[in-house]
Amino acid sequence: MEKEKIYTLRPHHGMCLAYFEGKGYSSSFCVHMGEVLEKLEKGAKVKLIVAGDEICAACPNLKQGMCRTAERTAFYDRSVLDRCGLRENEILGFQEFVSKVEREILKPGKRKEICGGCQWDEICKKKKSRWEK
Ligand code: SF4
Repeated sequence: MEKEKIYTLRPHHGMCLAYFEGKGYSSSFCVHMGEVLEKLEKGAKVKLIVAGDEICAACPNLKQGMCRTAERTAFYDRSVLDRCGLRENEILGFQEFVSKVEREILKPGKRKEICGGCQWDEICKKKKSRWEK
């Protein structure tokens, strides 16, 4: 039997993916992000890392494995981990992870406290979360 792939995921991408609508840092980045979302939604497992992940792999802002805005993105990541009661390097099901993101951050309207200053905020604030049931 083929070994189940575990995808690396920055915790704050649990918020980005909730509102992703095909826009991003470059066209290849957007295509890649859409593909990753599709794979994750099929029931994949994720390992929560505070470093370049599966999505960052196609990002023009990733230089030598480091995000150009590493300090800010690490803050987003650690904020999501804290609010969801999760730990760095924890492995869990993607659906379980995003349910926590929805329940602890998005539904109670706390997203802005974490990433309200992000350049994509205009998109996220107008949209319904993909994880909302
Ligand atoms: S490299 Fe930075 S800007 Fe690019 S997707 Fe990753 S966290 Fe976001």
